[in-house]
Amino acid sequence: MKPYYDVLIIGSGVAGLNTANNLKDDLNVLVLSKDYAWECNTFYAQGGVAVAVNKDDVALHVKDTLEAGAGLCTKEAVEVLCKEGIYSVEKLIEQGFWFDRDKNGELAYTKEAAHSRNRVLHAGGDATGRELHYFLMKSLKFPILYNTQVIDLLIEDGVCYGVCVRHDKKIFNIYAKSVVIASGGVGSLYEYHTNSRTISADMHGVCLKHGIELRDMEMMQFHPTVFVKCSWARKQLLSEALRGEGAKVVDSHGRRFLLDYDSRAELSPRNIVSEAIFSYQQSTNEEIFLDLSCFSKSYFKKRFPSIYFNMKNLGYDLPMQKIPISPAFHYAMGGIKTDLDGKIQSVRDLYAVGEVASSGVHGANRLASNSLLEGLVFSIRVAKSIEKDLNLDKKKIKFPLFEKKLVKKGDKKLKNELRKLMWKNAGIIRTQKGLIRARQRVNDMLSMDRGELIKLRLLCSKEIIESGLKRKSSLGAHYIKGEN
Ligand SMILES: Cc1cc2nc3c(=O)[nH]c(=O)nc-3n(C[C@H](O)[C@H](O)[C@H](O)COP(=O)(O)OP(=O)(O)OC[C@H]3O[C@@H](n4cnc5c(N)ncnc54)[C@H](O)[C@@H]3O)c2cc1C
Repeated sequence: MKPYYDVLIIGSGVAGLNTANNLKDDLNVLVLSKDYAWECNTFYAQGGVAVAVNKDDVALHVKDTLEAGAGLCTKEAVEVLCKEGIYSVEKLIEQGFWFDRDKNGELAYTKEAAHSRNRVLHAGGDATGRELHYFLMKSLKFPILYNTQVIDLLIEDGVCYGVCVRHDKKIFNIYAKSVVIASGGVGSLYEYHTNSRTISADMHGVCLKHGIELRDMEMMQFHPTVFVKCSWARKQLLSEALRGEGAKVVDSHGRRFLLDYDSRAELSPRNIVSEAIFSYQQSTNEEIFLDLSCFSKSYFKKRFPSIYFNMKNLGYDLPMQKIPISPAFHYAMGGIKTDLDGKIQSVRDLYAVGEVASSGVHGANRLASNSLLEGLVFSIRVAKSIEKDLNLDKKKIKFPLFEKKLVKKGDKKLKNELRKLMWKNAGIIRTQKGLIRARQRVNDMLSMDRGELIKLRLLCSKEIIESGLKRKSSLGAHYIKGEN
């Protein structure tokens, strides 16, 4: 370990690794990863990377993204995403990344919900994230420190000097000229979610502790088609691409009830499908299924090998058997507020990128498969911006070590209670009353004798609830019943 780094990157998903891969080789860079490098949402991504198929498609990709975002996107950020998306994907292909091709050897674009045309590239069938992660790891030229959880940022007078970490049961500070937060979303705050176990809003909580602004935190996306009947925390996602290619959502009588809610049925935006499934389930007590009978077995195995094998291990023979489904938490549109270069305005030398950040590209709802693209595009910008600022003068300060107890007896129980509380009250369908009740309980938990790590989750949960309470009417992914 070096006493001082040029750049510290928190997180080894697409955003963190692609930032590292776009920094000059002669810099001193260290990537910090809470667990194994692959234990991240990037690794589990299935569907693909949305990208304009050519320059003429940029305007339509922008339009689709803005429409999904329901008026809350920052238009300039969306333009950057869609325009620079073409370059970032071309760069990846030039470096040797292999997206699936059709029989003529051309890139195979597929369709996902709310895209006006086929524009989603995929790799390894439905293993886009795994392939991309493997490729970025193979290309990585800097060291990674595994099993290293960042527990605090070293900030004084509006400048970031490094991070405090827990590694091998030891707590120590690591210093750097620039720090990049690429720590992903908030999945573990919810009872049902599709996220990696490492994704638990630590850095959202740390930022809130330091008074750093988060934005659009009420905007949480719930994936409509998830197999939740398994015992482990990360539930099995059934990719959007299944519906894009013809799978149907049905009740136990085979009825496509989604048509009662929206004429686009399975191809409606995610929030509409999730809300429809959730309310139909609640009002009828019916079990809901994904019907894959439109696929032949040979095609399904080739196109969706991960889903085929994962579900086989869970006892389902696809595509013949229907899969029971439920919506589950999937993606955080909101996050740490940044500018278009990933800079956090209130703290010098501190950046955020990927799902943890909010540059304004997703607004009130994310267009399917725009997030891997976001990671690719904005990490290139962050790397460029860091290199521009690296020569700025910076004093070297030593910070005291973090002394408070990280975990206390009873924290696990609180964690589980929090998950249920968030699912019930800050989930797919919210009410003012439910949000107020949840805020009260979170405040109670915050005032208890508890460890510092659970505090980070509680702070982020409180922010989601407060943002939900501030937005009095439904918009995009924020659906509030009994509006006032
Ligand atoms: C099942 C699933 C399928 C998806 N499918 C798609 C898809 O097809 N297309 C698409 O565009 N998007 C998809 N998404 C969303 C997309 O995968 C994520 O938004 C994206 O990968 C986020 O990348 P990231 O680098 O920001 O974060 P992640 O890939 O989640 O990486 C976060 C990293 O931060 C580390 N970390 C977290 N906290 C700390 C800490 N305190 N200290 C140190 N390290 C920390 C984690 O260990 C991890 O290495 C999917 C998501 C899921 C869960």
